[in-house]
Amino acid sequence: MKMYSESDVDTSVLGDRKIAVLGYGSQGRAHALNLRDSGFNVVVGLRRSGASRARAEADGLVVEEPGAAVRGASIAIFLTPDMVQKELYASVADDIGQGALLLFAHGFAIHYEQVVPRADLDVALIAPKGPGGLVRRQYEEGHGVPCLVAVHRDATGKALAKALAYAAGIGGARAGVIETTFAEETETDLFGEQAVLCGGTTELIVAGFETLVDAGYQPEVAYYEVMHELKLIVDLLHEGGLAKMHQFISDTAAWGDLVSGPRVVGEKSRAAMKDVLKDIRDGTFARNWIAEHEDGSPRFRAKMQADLDHPIEAVGRRLRGRMDWLTE
Ligand code: NAD
Ligand code: MG
Repeated sequence: MKMYSESDVDTSVLGDRKIAVLGYGSQGRAHALNLRDSGFNVVVGLRRSGASRARAEADGLVVEEPGAAVRGASIAIFLTPDMVQKELYASVADDIGQGALLLFAHGFAIHYEQVVPRADLDVALIAPKGPGGLVRRQYEEGHGVPCLVAVHRDATGKALAKALAYAAGIGGARAGVIETTFAEETETDLFGEQAVLCGGTTELIVAGFETLVDAGYQPEVAYYEVMHELKLIVDLLHEGGLAKMHQFISDTAAWGDLVSGPRVVGEKSRAAMKDVLKDIRDGTFARNWIAEHEDGSPRFRAKMQADLDHPIEAVGRRLRGRMDWLTE
């Protein structure tokens, strides 16, 4: 494994040359503010009608139309939803200067050839391993969120150096920047969020809730057991891995974990994980998601609504309403 830290970075490769941050959502806001506070020359590129324009201006940033923002920029980073990057690149391609660096925070658009950049451009990714809010908060506290770096094309000989300078600007180099490839970042990121982080975890919670409620237990008690307490366990895992969790849970909980965990996530779940990974690697998942987007996302909206309408949500809202410290 190759990991870069702040001492490996030469920020003079960017100097005061313009960095265009396209998009001002979760990642865009965090990157733009961190880069500015690190002393870089940042311009945010947003559509005139876009909803996030007012927020970027209120934050004191220079905001231009995407085409104007990328003109003369040394780096243009695409921080819009993955599904709109193709159309956004097409709309600004003629404005991007010779030898600029196209940067991404996730490899989807390049790996699945949604964006096929001009041959003179450097293409790389800096992917923070955390949501935008955390990228900002850690930076303000003097820390950083670890990042991945990958170079897809080095047209100028400076692609890696410029990408690392960018990573330092958002605070990522404080925590370490691990070298990867677009294929590895894209495929592992999709797999993680589908099988474990978002898809796997929420299905596990909902299935546990339904099992208890169907057996006649009170929904409120079920909610505390399978949703609320998850955070306490995840915090221990995050801070100290399996060892720290085992240090803090009871022997009874540990024995139950060791004998029953593999019954729930058994051979069938492992086979399903392999299947999910296969669809990611052979492009099936990407093709379906792109087709869904081009179709106006009706299944996406319907499935999302079904998730939001699940009884665990109503129970959760009621109980969380009594825990006002949760939102602090
Ligand atoms: P987001 O949905 O929070 O932000 C969207 C931004 O793009 C907004 O400013 C919006 O106004 C703008 N936008 C939306 N549609 C647009 C269009 N048609 N044309 C121009 N601008 C448009 O996005 P995000 O979650 O920050 O994701 C940005 C990138 O970062 C993605 O590639 C994503 O995979 C990656 N990423 C996200 C996270 C995360 O935690 N959210 C973590 C790592 C990497
Ligand atoms: Mg789910």
